[in-house]
Amino acid sequence: MPDNCTNNNKLHFKLLPDYATYLLNNKLREFVKIQLGLMIKMDVPILKYYDLRGTEEQLVEQFLSSYTTFLTSVINNTLNITLNETLKKWVNNQLPNISKDQLVIEDITFVTYIRKQAFFNFLPSYTSDVKLALDLVKEIEDYSLELVARSLKTLMEIQQEKFNEVNETLKKHEKGLLEAQEIASFGSFEWDLTGNEKSTYTPQVFKIFEMESTNGLEDFLNYVHPGDREKLQASIDKALKGGDDYECEYRFRRNGKEKILWTKGVVNFIEKKPASMVGTIMDITDRHYILQRLERNEELYKQAQKLTHIGNWIWDIETGIIKYSDELLRIYGLKPNEEMTFDKAIKLVHPNDLEKMHEALNYSLTTHKPHEIEFRVIRPDGDERIIRRHAEVLLDEKGKPYKLAGTGQDITKEVLLNNEIKEREKQLAELNLSLEQKNIALERSNKELTSFSYVASHDLQEPLRKIKTFSNLILEKEKNLSEEGKDCFGRIIISAGRMQTLIEDLLSFSRTQLFENTLKPVDLNNVLNEIRILHSETIKEGRLVFNISNLPVINAIAFQIQQLFENIISNSIKYSKPGQNTEIIITCQLVNGEQLSFSNDKIKKYYKISISDNGIGFDQKYADKIFEIFQRLHGKNEYSGTGIGLSICKKIVENHKGFIIAQSKLNIGSTFDIFLPQEN
Ligand code: ADP
Repeated sequence: MPDNCTNNNKLHFKLLPDYATYLLNNKLREFVKIQLGLMIKMDVPILKYYDLRGTEEQLVEQFLSSYTTFLTSVINNTLNITLNETLKKWVNNQLPNISKDQLVIEDITFVTYIRKQAFFNFLPSYTSDVKLALDLVKEIEDYSLELVARSLKTLMEIQQEKFNEVNETLKKHEKGLLEAQEIASFGSFEWDLTGNEKSTYTPQVFKIFEMESTNGLEDFLNYVHPGDREKLQASIDKALKGGDDYECEYRFRRNGKEKILWTKGVVNFIEKKPASMVGTIMDITDRHYILQRLERNEELYKQAQKLTHIGNWIWDIETGIIKYSDELLRIYGLKPNEEMTFDKAIKLVHPNDLEKMHEALNYSLTTHKPHEIEFRVIRPDGDERIIRRHAEVLLDEKGKPYKLAGTGQDITKEVLLNNEIKEREKQLAELNLSLEQKNIALERSNKELTSFSYVASHDLQEPLRKIKTFSNLILEKEKNLSEEGKDCFGRIIISAGRMQTLIEDLLSFSRTQLFENTLKPVDLNNVLNEIRILHSETIKEGRLVFNISNLPVINAIAFQIQQLFENIISNSIKYSKPGQNTEIIITCQLVNGEQLSFSNDKIKKYYKISISDNGIGFDQKYADKIFEIFQRLHGKNEYSGTGIGLSICKKIVENHKGFIIAQSKLNIGSTFDIFLPQEN
């Protein structure tokens, strides 16, 4: 069959078809055998994809059909088609037994060589005609050459395709690498150290440096923070000398921005001389600041533990190892980083607290619930500390406790303070009790005293009155009395009078306590009118002038309020300047408690009633003293009195939950401010 299927006629032979017919009919088995034998002998790589077990005959049998096909295509001169089909199958990876990548150049050359040898082998038995034999040799050579050429071409095409694929993958990888560099903010470089080659940098390097090109190490160092230049240079120098790899973290300033960069490089040496450095540059600014923040937080956490004296711990039940935070180690008086185990920790617990400690642990381990206990530890230095411990149970996936974790707080000071407070409270309670008892006793003695002074004053009045009456009688009736005698009796009468006043004052002082809680509305205007009536004579004579604003109605004990105003006004009259008329001004205004430094009730409202006079006044430093009983600033010979009047006033005002203060200037006058609650 003529070969018209391909443009290649090189596989069209004149003599070979007949030779192939001879071989097919007479020598097929030997033709196969000789080739298999050579293939095994030459260890053709393709053989490893075939099953070569069995006898030689069986092997030959296995290959008979494919050789028959081959020889038939030689006979029919269709070798070209057969080869094309085979090569196509190869390219399309359709070959039986082997895949397209498994065929190697040795397979092509060896197989062709072996086939050629097989053809040559039977030539002597085929013909004794030398010319025919030589022509056949030529055709066999042509066939072999064409077979090798076309097979190699196909192999090359396959390899080119493979190369393209690899190249494509490489490109993809490189692109991926560059993208990864961009995402991870790192670049890579190959820095030529010989001066002969060009250094290479990935685009990310320029992005990190914010430069378009590099101008050598010197230029680069200009942008490195001066504080980091030396260590960077030292690291590079060390690497170039064959020491460690170059690795450095440094600050890099450019375009007004500071970055933290990290570079690692490995030096390649050629004949012991540094040839190049391959490395990576990473922008670790964000990571650096995050780490810094983490470190700061950790520091704060440690400080917080230190300040609160609370530490934390975690106990691995299986290994028995307990990890204590620094603060807890400090509380326990242990060395920093000291390895702790459960057994070691238990030994520190005060023997009297061991039982409750075990109970608490068992409770958590069996119920899986947290516990909180207080116990004492005896530190290695012998110091005793009280710890409040909180513990939580951590369960594994099977629900079994595998860790216990929690906090430990040094509450020694707190407990000691609490104990001290309790002790003080006890003392205070005792003190209060004795104070209460004393108060009761005082009240009793006060009452006794009051009733005594009441009775005494009453009973004393009588003999006094008698002394006065009889003294007056003697003075009037006894005409023979000497002047000295008269003088004596006169003095007796005056003294008795003074004593009577004193007794009366004492009587009213003791009476101020007797009438509590009997408040009734009292119109202060009426009170003042009564007083005016009392002093009407003096007013008429023009020696006493009142200037009184409108006054409120208050809830009060009427007769006490009457006495309060009477006492103050009579003092104003008594302590007036000699030869000068007395002027008394009385005003009233409503004030808030918050305006008054001496009031505890800032919400309460008070009537402030001010009584001012133009009398002799007194030194302001005695403003408090004059309210004390029997305290007088002026001699009894100049101004009569007992020193009880103002103390009665103070008592009355306090009885009404109010305050009284005095303000005075010598020779100018005095003002008495009475503060009485608006609502009582
Ligand atoms: P006495 O009976 O002495 O008046 P008081 O208790 O009423 O006692 O007053 C105490 C002292 O306060 C008086 O002795 C006097 O020295 C002084 N005093 C009281 N009121 C006035 C006043 N209006 N002007 C000057 N001094 C006064």
